[in-house]
Order: sequence, then C-alpha cells, then structure tokens
Amino acid sequence: MSGPDNNFDWDSLTFSLTKTEKMYVAECNQGDAWSPGNILPYGNLSIDPAAGVLNYGQGIFEGMKAQRTANNRVILFRPEENARRFQRGAARLGMPPVPESMFIDAVEQVVAANSSWIPPSGRGALYIRPVLWGTGPIMGVAPAPSYTFCVFATPVGPYFKGGLSAIDLLISEENHRAAPGGSGGVKAIGNYAPGMMPSKNAKKQGFAEVIYLDAVEHKYIEEVGAANYFCIKDNVLYTPELTGTILPGITRESIIMLARHRGYEVNETQVSAEFAMTADESFCCGTAAVISPIASITQGENKKVFGVGGVGVITRELYDALTNLQTEINEDPFGWLHEVNLNLALNISNE
Ligand SMILES: *Cc1c(COP(=O)(O)O)cnc(C)c1O
Repeated sequence: MSGPDNNFDWDSLTFSLTKTEKMYVAECNQGDAWSPGNILPYGNLSIDPAAGVLNYGQGIFEGMKAQRTANNRVILFRPEENARRFQRGAARLGMPPVPESMFIDAVEQVVAANSSWIPPSGRGALYIRPVLWGTGPIMGVAPAPSYTFCVFATPVGPYFKGGLSAIDLLISEENHRAAPGGSGGVKAIGNYAPGMMPSKNAKKQGFAEVIYLDAVEHKYIEEVGAANYFCIKDNVLYTPELTGTILPGITRESIIMLARHRGYEVNETQVSAEFAMTADESFCCGTAAVISPIASITQGENKKVFGVGGVGVITRELYDALTNLQTEINEDPFGWLHEVNLNLALNISNE
C-alpha cells in the first residue's frame, strides 16, 4: 500500500474500498476516560473471539467526507455533528463516548496521514469511517470490558458519474428497519445486516433500494435503505419527523436549513406512503450520495413516477446549493465547513 502514483486515474474511483496507508486506533477500558490514540499503518487488527462486538454487535460507525474545494482547501462538513451523534450512539449501546475534540482530532489526523489520497477538487472525496467497538472479551450479554475506537479512510469517486440520475424504489411490505424504543436512531452496526436481503431482493427486481415504512402502523415513510427521505408538493418540502426510529442524518438537517434559508417551507412531520405517492418531487439523502433524486416509487400494484426523468427542479436546486457550498463554489453562510490543516502533527506509532 502506498500513495497513488502520478498517473493514478482518479476517475476510476467508485464508492468502494481502496486501502490507504494509515489508520487511527485508540483503546479504553470500561469505566476509564479515553486517552488519545495513535496513527498506525493500515492493516488487520487482532481481536479476541469473545469480543463483545463479534458476539453481540456492540458497535457503532460514522461516515464522513474530506473534500478538496475549488479554493484548494481540504474541508470536512460539520464534523462536530458526527462527533455528537457518535457520542449518543456510544451511550445508547453502553460504550464510553469518545470526547468530541478527540473524535475530530482523530479524523483530522487520518485525513492528514492519507492526504495523497484526497481526490482533486470535484473528482471525489476521501471517505472517512470512524468506528467504535466493544473489543474486550465477554460471555454474558453485557457491555464489553474494553473498547477500540478506529478511524480509517478510503478515496471514493463522485456518487453520480455524469451528473444526477434518478432511482426507482420499492416500498417494503415485509420488513421494517427499526421499532420504537430500539436502536434505529443511532448508527449501530447491528441495524444494517437485516436490511441487506430486502435490499438485495429489491435489486433483483430492478429497484435501487427499498423504502421502509414505520413498524407500528406500516403507513408512514421512515427511510430509504440507509438514507433519509424527502418529498416536495406544491413547493413545500416534507420529511419524516425524528421519532427515534429514524437516523438523524446530517445531510437531512442541512437540507432543511438550506431549503428554509432559500425561502422554502419545510415540514418535519409524518409522511404517509399515500401522501408521498401524490408528491411532485421526491429524493433521498445522506453523506455518500448527498442527494439522490427518486424517479419512481412502487407499492404493490401501484407505481408513482415523479416528473419526467425524475430529477425535479427543486431537488436539483438543493443538490447544487449543497454541493456548491461544500466545494466553496458558493459561500458558506452557516459556517459548516471545517478546514483540515494537512501539516498537523501526527501521533505516529509503528507498532
Ligand atoms: C448514515 C445514515 C443516514 C444519513 O446520515 P448522514 O449524516 O446524512 O450521512 C441516513 N439513514 C441511515 C439509516 C444512516 O445510517
């Protein structure tokens, strides 16, 4: 593993794992305070087979991007929000929360240590994956005795090559993502495996992803796979309100603020599938794709097709507004961009 060579084809990158050189690792015993970790060569970790994370899924993750802007600065987008969500997730799963400043420092060190892998402006991003696992051995179902906080990164291409394209979705009739009182509101690793077969089966039928309805009434839209949902009707935006079963996406919150800033009314409310099928535009959002326009939604025998080609006017406006803010083509009135100093001192260990 080494940095990309001079003729590395940045345009060949997709949203997949390309290993980089360095990762960050810190460890902490239950009951102790975290102390900062080290930058290590990227590679395998050694883990006890009785680790809490391997047996009982005690783990959470985050997903963030470092991007080179039009001004050739390297920025993170609202990293404090990821840090806070990571703390809430840790608390929910009985793990010691990583302090916000340590989380951001770890992410910055990983970006700086792998800076040769940050794609040129407009040609992708360095995707950053912080994870927190219960790595100490435990047999009873209880919090593990020790924890590992690891941050690694991989360069990814732009989600949509050749511009925005709209996706076809299927409402899942059999599966739900999260139930009230469960862990749907945090990025618990255990939330994701149960969605793999529903999503794979939908793909076999030609859909890009499934839409999950609420687990109580099976009426209200919750999420699109692992992305948040919006629809637009008569120039008003609607998105499912955060009730604990929906992951509070940072892209979701940013779109709400950006849309209101641009004069749109935004309602965080219950959005029934029935209502969604009458909307003018519809999209889903998350860090990876930013905004994915929805071309159609199918529920049983019913299929709703949005607009012509599926990329609605307001959807495109919001996509452009958010991505242009993130790449400093437009200004950032909210102070969302966090510059990474690539010369920052690294806590290197070669163990
Ligand atoms: C991560 C995630 C999102 C999107 O969150 P962002 O902070 O916008 O990346 C939405 N839904 C689920 C289930 C997620 O895991």
